[in-house]
Amino acid sequence: MDIEKQVRDTIEKYNLIEKGEKVVVALSGGKDSTSLLYILHKLGYNVHGLMIDLDLGEWSKIHNKNMTEFCKELKIPLTIVDLKKEFGHGICYIKAIVKKQKNLSGCTVCGIIKRWILNKWAKKLKADKIATGHNLDDETQTVLMNFLKGNVMLGLNSTPMTGIIVDEDLKCKTSGFAQRIKPLFFVPESEIRNYAQKMKFKILYDRCPCAIGTYRVETRAWMAKLNDSQKMKIVENFQKEIPRLKKKFASGQIQECKYCGEPARGEICNACRIFECFKEL
Ligand code: AMP
Ligand code: ZN
Repeated sequence: MDIEKQVRDTIEKYNLIEKGEKVVVALSGGKDSTSLLYILHKLGYNVHGLMIDLDLGEWSKIHNKNMTEFCKELKIPLTIVDLKKEFGHGICYIKAIVKKQKNLSGCTVCGIIKRWILNKWAKKLKADKIATGHNLDDETQTVLMNFLKGNVMLGLNSTPMTGIIVDEDLKCKTSGFAQRIKPLFFVPESEIRNYAQKMKFKILYDRCPCAIGTYRVETRAWMAKLNDSQKMKIVENFQKEIPRLKKKFASGQIQECKYCGEPARGEICNACRIFECFKEL
């Protein structure tokens, strides 16, 4: 499979990037986001790397070094945001405190904080789009997990372009979101791995050391029985249902968080709910 062509086709089909736009690529340091940055750069887009240093010891240090060298070689600007500087604590401490006070899994907490920082910094960097390395396997997991949990509404963001600013159909306006795009949406993880290895990218292939025993990890394990064309069917069929689901479930009531000003479904955004746990420590 030619994944460069597939990325080009997805960008064209879903109008992910307009000419001249600045695309901030969220870099974890893994194979997906590194390959994405490389491909977008190769296709001639105006890219800027954005990485959150989660303060996970050696693991973070190696990722930071790899991405710094990778971007330097390709002459791509890179911004590394230090979670400890931004927030005062590393991710492990944050997760431990939040788990004690609110019953949220570590990956959920990490996801909320990452989305909050990426959105804030994408706007700071004046990005037109923020691109993540989510691939076909990630999206299949998300669709299946949401079904298994009976929370199909969460899947409304499982599209190649999310964070829509104006939805004419629903007559709703949402503000404050940097528009997120997922150009690897239809590319199987195995293909990206092959590509990154063929390109000899100097990166780590290990999964996040903290993602142990979570629902996503369990889902990934039994999903290993599915082949790539079955994963594609699950994701494509779900895409067809999204307009109908949006009409049924989307509320469109996005407001500004009263503490940080970032988008929120209620008065306070999810990240500030997490930050509240630290007020009295
Ligand atoms: P994950 O949730 O770890 O599967 O990551 C999904 C996507 O989020 C990656 O492909 C990256 O685009 C982005 N991402 C994950 N971790 C980071 C990070 N530490 N800094 C910036 N972006 C990240
Ligand atoms: Zn907030």
